[in-house]
Amino acid sequence: MNFIETRGNDSKHPLTVTFSHAILNPIASYGGLYTPEHLPKPGVEFLRRHINSNYKTLARDLLQAFAIDIDTRVIDEALSLYDHFDDASNPVPVVKVYDDLYVSELYHGPTRAFKDMALQPFGVVLSSLAQQRNENYLIMVATSGDTGPAALETFKNKENVRVACLYPDGGTSDVQRLQMVTEDAANLKVIGIHGDFDDAQSALKRLLGSETFKQKLKQKNIHLSAANSVNFGRIIFQIIYHIHSYLELVRQQAITLGEKVYLNVPSGNFGNALGGYYAMKMGLPVEKILIASNKNNILTKLIKTGAYDLRNQSVIPTTSPAMDILISSNIERILFDMFGAARTKDLMQQLEKNRHYQLSPAELEKIQAVFAADYCENDEGKAYIKRAFATGYLMDPHTATCFKTYETCRTLPLKTIVYSTAEWTKFSPVIANALTGEIDARDIDALKSVSQVAKIKIPAIINDLFDKNIAQKAVINKDNIETEILAFL
Ligand SMILES: *Cc1c(COP(=O)(O)O)cnc(C)c1O
Repeated sequence: MNFIETRGNDSKHPLTVTFSHAILNPIASYGGLYTPEHLPKPGVEFLRRHINSNYKTLARDLLQAFAIDIDTRVIDEALSLYDHFDDASNPVPVVKVYDDLYVSELYHGPTRAFKDMALQPFGVVLSSLAQQRNENYLIMVATSGDTGPAALETFKNKENVRVACLYPDGGTSDVQRLQMVTEDAANLKVIGIHGDFDDAQSALKRLLGSETFKQKLKQKNIHLSAANSVNFGRIIFQIIYHIHSYLELVRQQAITLGEKVYLNVPSGNFGNALGGYYAMKMGLPVEKILIASNKNNILTKLIKTGAYDLRNQSVIPTTSPAMDILISSNIERILFDMFGAARTKDLMQQLEKNRHYQLSPAELEKIQAVFAADYCENDEGKAYIKRAFATGYLMDPHTATCFKTYETCRTLPLKTIVYSTAEWTKFSPVIANALTGEIDARDIDALKSVSQVAKIKIPAIINDLFDKNIAQKAVINKDNIETEILAFL
């Protein structure tokens, strides 16, 4: 399978590239993204054959349908990391919470958030490519709190790979910060910046596009790449669990094969939702994809009105910080898929120049045929957490945003798969507040009180963080990022 560019070709980049090229050099012509030239169409027959497949078998066969240029041995090694999830035989449990609301739990990996679903296997694929080619890579990561820990975990001590991870200081939970700053390996550098996630992501994009930075790295014999969800190497692993979750509903006899469902996704950079979109295009019976946001509701406005408007907008901190995003990068791949490269380039350039674009009525109609959206206020989210807990289900504040879209965006009484993107342990102060009314607790105290109220143990991987040595101390201004990274290298 080959990959093409969302903003067309500038004749300096190759016209089409392989999967390995696309993941090692993720920035395409005009700052666009790589995207598959064609999607495989496995269809209902593929689903039927996999009704009783375990996660790894499903994943292996699906990746095979993509015909990517990665050795089977490497893919098998990558997928074997799902064996380290809580339940090796079922890394993604799907749990019935209300009558037609099922929660697909994507957080059972080592860093307790759904980023592990893609980054665990991606780390193996990328470092094997680097080793095969005998090349060294600097992987840049900008994180709002979950990508960072997952990327550090997957690349820790891997050959031929170094990681520079940027996070907004004060913009993450204590647990998320500790997961990053306690990572002590010679190939990892963690940098807190004074600013929000969009500042971190913009700094990353600037460095990835900077010829002078690339030249400086070249002198040190290092190539530059990125592990953000714009990298297709992550997206490909995010298609699998949508199909798995659907098949789980069939296995649980909640639906019959072929019956349509809603996918309900707490969205930020739109990687998770994009995986669902591709799964739908590949033949998964999906009625619509419901896009849940928090008060940073740029996606709700886009899907309701066709306007992407960043003017006079700034990121509002919420109780679901992994979704505190205004620049949702993977929307670009949807634009490309629906409207083509010329229009995508035009829209993205309008956004960069005027901080605004408006889709035509016909374009909006196409978007609304696939997506519906709404956003959830902090207090509403807390109420959903409390209500679900009363029926015996403990969920995190990101997952809770989907309970709003579940109520407001469905027009048919179909089964709905809500994606749970983090374990409660990563955002315990919000949950303690929802369940006990406790305010402004630090993570360490909130973990204890939720653990008591819910009668569940704090997982050791989380508890141990508080006693670990802080290995990564840098917190700097965004203008000094390049210097800090060069000093590390
Ligand atoms: C990253 C993240 C999201 C947003 O996912 P996208 O793929 O960026 O839309 C939602 N919830 C949690 C907990 C996350 O870590």
